[in-house]
Amino acid sequence: MSELRLLALYPDQMNIYADRGNVLFLQHRCEWRGIGFSYAAAGIGEEFDPEAHDLIYIGGGQDRDQRMVAADLVATKRDAIKAAIAGGVAGLAVCGGYQLLGSSYELGEERIEGLGVAALHTVREPGPRLIGNVSIEVDVGSGPRVLAGFENHGGRTYVDSGGEALGRVLHGHGNNGRDGLEGIVRGNLIGTYLHGPLLPKNAWLADELIARALEHREGARPELEPLDDRLEDAAHADAERAAERG
Ligand code: GLN
Repeated sequence: MSELRLLALYPDQMNIYADRGNVLFLQHRCEWRGIGFSYAAAGIGEEFDPEAHDLIYIGGGQDRDQRMVAADLVATKRDAIKAAIAGGVAGLAVCGGYQLLGSSYELGEERIEGLGVAALHTVREPGPRLIGNVSIEVDVGSGPRVLAGFENHGGRTYVDSGGEALGRVLHGHGNNGRDGLEGIVRGNLIGTYLHGPLLPKNAWLADELIARALEHREGARPELEPLDDRLEDAAHADAERAAERG
């Protein structure tokens, strides 16, 4: 039986708006198909083996938690994360975790150093938080699709040269409320501001991550058995409508 090995980074600190629901959803979609699922976590001070996981997940966090997590990420996990990415691991980083993929997160005089694994940087500029329902158009290899969800961030993120945004904003703010871009993609690594139940509302993205993770594990991309997605499709349609209404 095939098995997906998920690693959650800092599940205690980086889990606002129930980002953990994304992990549960991945687990259920694997189990519904008879695919094994194993969960591991790495918290403050803990190192991990870059070859022991197929999908790495990091959720959102408050500035306060992000500060602590960022210092620890750089000190104890950066090398393993770089090695895992080089080995083709699949990754999903959401909101606060997404910001930490970049080179830095600047808050006034303070500069929080990020992992530097994706070409982006984030600045906490004056101005309101960027909050609301959001939809974006993305193409991660299976044709144009829509991701719909919710965003709530004070930081504004800019894709640096050489970087590729995940998608174009249809409704909402996206990375910074100005350039119409949202998220980042680098190979099998995806970062986005869309959080809360991102994957339950966008089941196709969950399956894309599962397929990439299993490809990492087994060397070939599997054909995933379709599931009865009536509820997920309804949740997606509802999230899309909410974004359209603004
Ligand atoms: N603390 C970050 C910001 O406000 C990220 C917030 C979050 O993860 N929701 O920009």
